[in-house]
Amino acid sequence: MQAALLDGYGQSLRVAEVPDPIPDDHEVVIRVMAVGLCHTDLHLIDGQPAILPGFPAILGHESAGVIESCGAAVTDWQIGAHVAVFGAQGCGACSRCTQDLENLCQEQTLSMNGIGRAGGFAQLMTVDARHLVDCGGLDSTEAAVLTDAGLTSYRAVMRAIGLRPDPRTIAIVGAGGLGQYAIQYARTLTSAHVIAIEPNAGRAQHALSLGADATFTPERCQAVLGSCDIVLDFVASHDTLALSSTLLCPGAVLNIVGLGEGTLPVGFFALPPEASITTTSWGSRGDLGNVFDLARGGTVQSTIQRYPLGDINAALADLRGGRITGRAVITPNC
Ligand SMILES: [Zn+2]
Ligand SMILES: [Zn+2]
Repeated sequence: MQAALLDGYGQSLRVAEVPDPIPDDHEVVIRVMAVGLCHTDLHLIDGQPAILPGFPAILGHESAGVIESCGAAVTDWQIGAHVAVFGAQGCGACSRCTQDLENLCQEQTLSMNGIGRAGGFAQLMTVDARHLVDCGGLDSTEAAVLTDAGLTSYRAVMRAIGLRPDPRTIAIVGAGGLGQYAIQYARTLTSAHVIAIEPNAGRAQHALSLGADATFTPERCQAVLGSCDIVLDFVASHDTLALSSTLLCPGAVLNIVGLGEGTLPVGFFALPPEASITTTSWGSRGDLGNVFDLARGGTVQSTIQRYPLGDINAALADLRGGRITGRAVITPNC
């Protein structure tokens, strides 16, 4: 099969012919039809953090495809089934995993497809059968991006609403791959005024088309300072966190979702009174079921830019350069 290999931190990916993977008894082999590109992939390639267990590595943690073969002990799935890979793969045994909170697994072994073990930047991948989710009629490309971009943004919105019910204003900082969904969830699941803070003119326009009530560049958002009940920061750089904290009103929630390396001073006088600061890490299987239902019902739509596997470095460069509207997706078998 063809795969995009990372030979070391900071390097370009190398598309090469490698042996087809062989499933163990509890795994299936998936023919990967779509795999999303995530900012996390850029962090992993850069070695920030340097958490990959070895090289060459096959990244890609947002995958969907068709079952090609099943291990001897797999009885619940059939060859030919259209499946997505649940990404926040926990140990399956700890108290969090057994409460459908694998995204908060206490073992934190980072053994997920595309992070601790081979992922979807390849024509074929092996997946433990317990991590499969039926696409249920969703197109592979859409199902793939919903497993992270669509899921993490959903959980981010739901967690924030849980901490600050009936928000009047929700700010989405960064209207990219995840922000595109957060705008739609905020618009349809709340009655809040939804604003997007986005420096890129094309993405700002896209945010409006998805239902944002207004957009602002980071330099020109004085009108909304101190006015937001919920702020979702999908970038979380030093600059955006500093901005996000100034958007909060008393009693507001700031949810840090992006993996930028920004930090924020927290103290009684550093934030509005009774502000809550939290993070969101991926989502649960129950969350993903809700996301798939919303997508099937037409509540959320995915904006996607497709690339063949051979163009994966160009796609990563476009992601790094801020040239993607929506989510970039690799189609390894097209
Ligand atoms: Zn991701
Ligand atoms: Zn666990």
